[in-house]
Amino acid sequence: MNTPSIDSTVKRKRFWPPTLLFAITGLLAVIAVPLYGFIYGYHWYQWLAFAVMGAMCSLSITAGYHRLWSHKTYEAHWSLRLLFALFGAAALQDSILKWCDHHRHHHQFVDNNDRDPYSAKRGFWFSHIEWMMYEYPTSYQNFKNVQDLQRDKIVIWQHNNYIPITVTMNLGILTLLGIITGDIIGMFLLAGALRIAFCHHTTFMVNSIIHKFGSQPYRDDVTACDNKIVNFFVFGEGYHNYHHAFQLDYRNGIHWFHYDPTKWVIKALSLVGITRNLKVASPVKIQKAKLDLQFKKARKKLQSKSAHRGVKEALQSESLQFTHTLEEWEQLQSKKTKRGEKLSKWELTQIQTKTNELAYSLKMQGERLQALMKHGQEGKTMEAL
Ligand SMILES: [Zn+2]
Ligand SMILES: [Zn+2]
Repeated sequence: MNTPSIDSTVKRKRFWPPTLLFAITGLLAVIAVPLYGFIYGYHWYQWLAFAVMGAMCSLSITAGYHRLWSHKTYEAHWSLRLLFALFGAAALQDSILKWCDHHRHHHQFVDNNDRDPYSAKRGFWFSHIEWMMYEYPTSYQNFKNVQDLQRDKIVIWQHNNYIPITVTMNLGILTLLGIITGDIIGMFLLAGALRIAFCHHTTFMVNSIIHKFGSQPYRDDVTACDNKIVNFFVFGEGYHNYHHAFQLDYRNGIHWFHYDPTKWVIKALSLVGITRNLKVASPVKIQKAKLDLQFKKARKKLQSKSAHRGVKEALQSESLQFTHTLEEWEQLQSKKTKRGEKLSKWELTQIQTKTNELAYSLKMQGERLQALMKHGQEGKTMEAL
């Protein structure tokens, strides 16, 4: 098989079905939807259908395609997997198998222009939508990295029947709702075109905007950022820097006050047994990732000879304490994984409590470090005056 070249001067084959889909739904959403609304107006039930179908499609992508199938951050009852398969197909973002294959490559080879299917380093437009519209070397899929998913009957059924499911979930539901409410065109425009365009571009923003703009508290070796503004539209997927650091965590926003509706839905469904085995990253590892970066930045800042000596010494002592805390944590981990010995509940609780204490102490150290750097900066400003 001839693999197409990545050379940008090469004329690439266009994939017409996705190109037409994006063009038609996009044009209808920005021209026909407001025009029809201006002339005929929309009813509240059409907006309700837009919101409900939009939420179902978006959640099927974020909680289903992404956190359940791509990353296996939790397990779900077959009824929920079926619902995600149906509304995921309605979102018109390809079958679960194809989506997860691309996404696992994205994580494995992030920012590698030859291997990451939507590498942000190939440009904003490419990572947003262009990667689906033309033939690239990364367009080829052999599904080797989704062999585990091929054992899920619902995944295979959806993959083999993707077109009929997509047509039924879109044309079928919208026609039915249109007949019931007496306005088929209005229903198709709002709950059809606008909903599809909205779900498409909000998902695509994660690969484009969020891989370009935002903060990087956990990793600075990838383009992925945390972006709280875009996060509002992407059901919690905006904590993408965290996600690229801890992809096995079912949460993307780790604190209770973090806006992450996908996490809330998964957690709520676990209370009634529909989801189970929700995975979370170790709090110590999370704090360690943050502190590693803080130390790196602090050392870089204090490299100059003019840096305050006291601040440099304080940083040195914080660094020693950091190493000591991590050693304590490693000892705890080895206690937990001692071979041939089953730990009692009391021992496990003791280890857990100690782990939480260490995570808290690292968190506090992060705050001290921040204050220290601020103090160093102020000190420098005073000297300059
Ligand atoms: Zn992911
Ligand atoms: Zn990413």
